[in-house]
Amino acid sequence: MTSRFLGVFCPKCGSENKKLFNGFCIECLLKDKKLFSIPEKIGIEVCSRCNRMRVRGKWVAYSDTALLGLAKSGSSFKGLENPLLVLKGVEVNDKFGVLMLKISGRVGGEELEVERIVSLRVFRVTCPSCSRVSGSYFEAILQARFEPKASKKKIGEKMSEIRAFLKKNEENDALSRVVKLQFVNNGFDLSIGSKRAAKKACGFFEKQLRERVIVTSDIYSYDRNKGRPIKRYTFCLRF
Ligand SMILES: [Zn+2]
Ligand SMILES: [Zn+2]
Repeated sequence: MTSRFLGVFCPKCGSENKKLFNGFCIECLLKDKKLFSIPEKIGIEVCSRCNRMRVRGKWVAYSDTALLGLAKSGSSFKGLENPLLVLKGVEVNDKFGVLMLKISGRVGGEELEVERIVSLRVFRVTCPSCSRVSGSYFEAILQARFEPKASKKKIGEKMSEIRAFLKKNEENDALSRVVKLQFVNNGFDLSIGSKRAAKKACGFFEKQLRERVIVTSDIYSYDRNKGRPIKRYTFCLRF
C-alpha cells in the first residue's frame, strides 16, 4: 500500500497538502460560492448638498460604517459559521471607489479568512430634505427681538450664534437650515426648514431670554395624503 494519499488532498481538484474545510480546499469552496457571496459592485447615492448617503431607504451621515452596512445588506454568508465582515480600507473619489473587506468565519471547525474588493459607483443626487430646502420649504420662523437700545453688533452676533447652532444640528436633521433671513426693527426673522430644529434652538437659547418663548402657529397648507392641515410655527425669542 502506498502512503501517497495518506496526506490530505482535495477530492475535487486533487491538490495535496492544503488545509481542508469540510474536506475541500479553499479554492474549490470559493469557486462553488457556497460559503458566502459579496457583491462585486455597489452603487451608492450620495447627496451633493448635505453629503448624506442612502442606506436601505434611509438617508444617513456618510461614513465607513454606513458603507459597510451597504456591503453587508447585499451579501450572504450561508456557508460560514460566525461570519464576520470587516472593513479594511476605503478609497472613494467623486464617482468611483473601492471597499476592501475581510471576511472571516468557521467552516467545518476550521477558521477561514478571505479578502475581497468591492467596487463602488457613486451617484450624486439631491436627497428629499435638500430638495425641499432648495425649494425654500420651511416649517418654522424664529423671530429674535432685542431691547430698543440693542446695538447692531449685538444683534448680528446673536444671529451668527443661532445660525451656527442650526448648522451644527444639521448632522441630525437635514432641514435644520435657514432658508430665509430678514432684518426687522430690533431684530431679525429666520425661516427654518425644520420645526424640530427651531424648537431645539429655542431650548438652547432660552437661558439668555428676558421672557419665555412665545409660540404661535398658522395653517398655510393642507396635506391631502394625511388629510390634515400643515401648520407653520413662529417662535418669538426676546433677548
Ligand atoms: Zn480543491
Ligand atoms: Zn441632502
